[in-house]
Amino acid sequence: MQIIAVDLGGTKTKAGIVKNSKLIGRNEFTAKSSGSLLSYLSFVKRNLLLLCEKSNTDPADLNGIGIASTGIIDNKKNRVLSVNKKYPDATQIDFSQWADEELGLPLILENDANAAMLGEWRYGEAKSTDNCIMLTLGTGIGSSVICNGHPLRGKHFQAGILGGHFIVNYNGRKCTCRGKGCVEAEASTWALPDIVRNDPEFNKSILSNLPVIDYKELFSAAEKKDKLSVKIRDNSMLVWAACTVSLIHAYDPEIVVFGGGIMKSAHIILPYITSYVEKHAWVKKGQVKIVKAKHIEDAALFGLYSLFCKQPEYI
Ligand SMILES: [Zn+2]
Repeated sequence: MQIIAVDLGGTKTKAGIVKNSKLIGRNEFTAKSSGSLLSYLSFVKRNLLLLCEKSNTDPADLNGIGIASTGIIDNKKNRVLSVNKKYPDATQIDFSQWADEELGLPLILENDANAAMLGEWRYGEAKSTDNCIMLTLGTGIGSSVICNGHPLRGKHFQAGILGGHFIVNYNGRKCTCRGKGCVEAEASTWALPDIVRNDPEFNKSILSNLPVIDYKELFSAAEKKDKLSVKIRDNSMLVWAACTVSLIHAYDPEIVVFGGGIMKSAHIILPYITSYVEKHAWVKKGQVKIVKAKHIEDAALFGLYSLFCKQPEYI
């Protein structure tokens, strides 16, 4: 079995060829910030063909293509169901038809958090567990749940994936989902620049001199004791920890796996969340493991591969 897997991503798109459970080739490129997803897919296709060439893989030998995308995904019909402000045409695209016409390959479309969870469940930190949660901290906040040995799907394909839209502050900041005070509106990479720039202490902060404000810069400035950075870092960790407790209460896992770009600061974030869970969650100490993903960048690529292996419990 070998497939080409694509994680469309919020800020960068990652692609890989997974053969017999191993990633044998990989590349990544900056994701298009907005516009037509169909035209972006043409760009992605060119990169996929280059990746095949670089990895000495004949596209005709591939068993299929897997794509992981944000949003609510109908994984039976391979369609995006939720309106996407970034790519307004996403709901109109017939992905199966695109893959057939452009690459001559069968396609599986999956929500990106679900794909990452499946990757960690089959090939990573959650291997041989039956109840696990993945939280992805990045541009947005994604979640996904395996419950009693099955991925949660729900009636409308959204069970378990909306942890980023759990409300942690009902009078809080406006979210992209029309909600207020969601986890990702209060602490995610897309929300961070606004949170920082609207703080009255912004002009006194190291961050005011930076062209780009992200969590890498925030954690670095907080280590230098920048007052605003320490305050926002600590509030962000509190938001993620509160979200973790709600997910644990909702789904009763044995392990919570954390992935996403913000996990570059896992050495600070995970001890904080572990301690918060021990204090505030309805679980015994040590009952739920809190860990960093094994495939911090590529879990979704492995998850897409696992879907092609057709374990019946996946669907
Ligand atoms: Zn929301």
